[in-house]
Amino acid sequence: MQKEVEEIINAVDRHEELFNNAIPMIASENVTSSQVRVLLASDLSHRYAEGDVGARFYQGCEFIDVIEARAIKWAKELFNAEYVNVKPVSGVNANIAVVFALASPGDLMMALSIPDGGHISHAAYSVPGLRGLRLKELPFDPKEMNIDVDRAVQAIRELAPEIIMLGASLFLFPHPIRELRTAADEAGTVIVYDASHVLGLIAGNKFQDPLREGADVVTSSTHKTFPGPQGALILCGNAQSEAIDRAVFPGTVSNHHLHHIAGLAVTLREMMQFGESYATQIQRNAKALAQALYQAGFKVLCEHKGFTESHQIAIDVRDFGGGDAVAKRLEQAYIITNKNMLPWDNSPDKPSGLRLGVQELTRIGMKESEMIEIASIMKRLLMDEEPVNTVKQDAIALKKDFQDVKYSFDGGAAYRNPVKK
Ligand SMILES: *Cc1c(COP(=O)(O)O)cnc(C)c1O
Repeated sequence: MQKEVEEIINAVDRHEELFNNAIPMIASENVTSSQVRVLLASDLSHRYAEGDVGARFYQGCEFIDVIEARAIKWAKELFNAEYVNVKPVSGVNANIAVVFALASPGDLMMALSIPDGGHISHAAYSVPGLRGLRLKELPFDPKEMNIDVDRAVQAIRELAPEIIMLGASLFLFPHPIRELRTAADEAGTVIVYDASHVLGLIAGNKFQDPLREGADVVTSSTHKTFPGPQGALILCGNAQSEAIDRAVFPGTVSNHHLHHIAGLAVTLREMMQFGESYATQIQRNAKALAQALYQAGFKVLCEHKGFTESHQIAIDVRDFGGGDAVAKRLEQAYIITNKNMLPWDNSPDKPSGLRLGVQELTRIGMKESEMIEIASIMKRLLMDEEPVNTVKQDAIALKKDFQDVKYSFDGGAAYRNPVKK
């Protein structure tokens, strides 16, 4: 094999070995079943199918139509939505399409700031700025780690924004959609809910049900708590569907990723069958991990409200050198996490926080007892200052029995390539 090619293949092998051994707790990641991974490597990854089911600009789409029609039908059923678009190739792509469809330059958008949990695509330098919108922060209550309802209602009444973007990347508790709906109606505001982090919980009837609670449009990536291939979808009522369709194709996507659509379709079936038990266990695991870390002495946020209702927990780690230092130290012991800004932070490079997600650990079968063990490993590393190598060996030993994907039809190895010779 050519040396340069070999280098790439070796790096991929070593990457898979790392994740085989590590405790993965990045809140935006997950693992797909081996059925999905085989589809991702199929010939679909080579093809074009611009246009819609039954109305393509390319020949050869007979079976692609079958696949995309099923994905749309099953997404409508699972999320009880009038209308679904499965073409955006990422969550940011979905947000761009929706903001271009529903707002015009000069309009006002309100969203959470990044330290309060908002995603970079909700910030002025990203989607709203690209669309020429004015942006105002949604008022936030750092003690409750949620939108401040009274101040938000007042702001909506005073400012009459064209769009409010709910949803977040640091997302511990359901957002107050119902509480904002009346003011939004009076002000003529469209409520968009970005479910990227919590779509898998919504699929399992946990966390919240944004369309029933009053969101007009839901955008979401499909690979965080929802354990599908990287991609996104948009859910809405028929009122917005035409504008959103046009903003997706031909507005911001030419060819969608057909292999990912096949994988999404299978993951939708997995969530129809296993979504409820999966989402239930995610919430149990998140609470168990938070409780164990709190008892060990970590400053886990929001103890007074049970720490979290999602897959995430947030910890103030300033006592241990801040989020950057702690995340790097954990990585040395094969515990993969990320630093995260908390509401009082102003530097993205030196944030106070550490964000942990338990969705992938849940997907590979871990339960409450493993959460307690992980908390103990973290305590030994960060508080007791045990040597990195001892702790790392214990992390690897814990991971050994959790190598397969659960909550799916044929599971399969989570970290081994199913199509590799
Ligand atoms: C992750 C995330 C996105 C972006 O999704 P990508 O698929 O990475 O583009 C959008 N919004 C929120 C709230 C997110 O957390």
